Amino acid sequence: MPSPLPSALSDGVDKRETLRGLRRALRKVRASGRLSDHEKDLVLRLRVSRERIAEEAGSLEACAQCAASYPLPASTWAGGYCCSGRTEALFDEIELAALGGASTRPRHLRPPPSPAAGCIFRGARGCSLPPVHRPNKCLRYLCVDAQRELHARGGLDLVEALCRDNEHQFEQLARVRLARLEASFCEELARRVF
Ligand code: SF4
Repeated sequence: MPSPLPSALSDGVDKRETLRGLRRALRKVRASGRLSDHEKDLVLRLRVSRERIAEEAGSLEACAQCAASYPLPASTWAGGYCCSGRTEALFDEIELAALGGASTRPRHLRPPPSPAAGCIFRGARGCSLPPVHRPNKCLRYLCVDAQRELHARGGLDLVEALCRDNEHQFEQLARVRLARLEASFCEELARRVF
């Protein structure tokens, strides 16, 4: 059984409440109408893309010590400085649509049992979520040190190309989803008026 989540936290983030809100938002996005075939295709491609980026980037030394010299709460953990933002900003509506349209369900969003230090999924051993359940932006983001390390390994060009592809698909998803929601809103309005 997982340890209970602490509710009073060092940086003022109520982890339990944030998690509840995030799971609620995921349910809401999943309930916002049937996906078009184009959306289904895009969410599945994005899921594959997230796994592929993680696989090609591999484990990076740069991510293990980058937060150590920052003030608390970012330096609660030595690594993962880029994960010290707000959870709600990372999991925006389109990210939730991409995750929920593929395979992510509320039960998959499980944080580590430690105090929050930014994003509630950040912990001593990095992100508690597997890449398929992480926001796309988390996979795409490469700080300068991570870029240098990948370059030294000879893998930067491929990872950057995969990230560009992911971003392109993500932007398409945002457009296609908005068009479907607008069309369904207009249909609903017309039904009520006429
Ligand atoms: S979801 Fe994971 S990778 Fe993304 S910001 Fe949170 S801890 Fe970092």
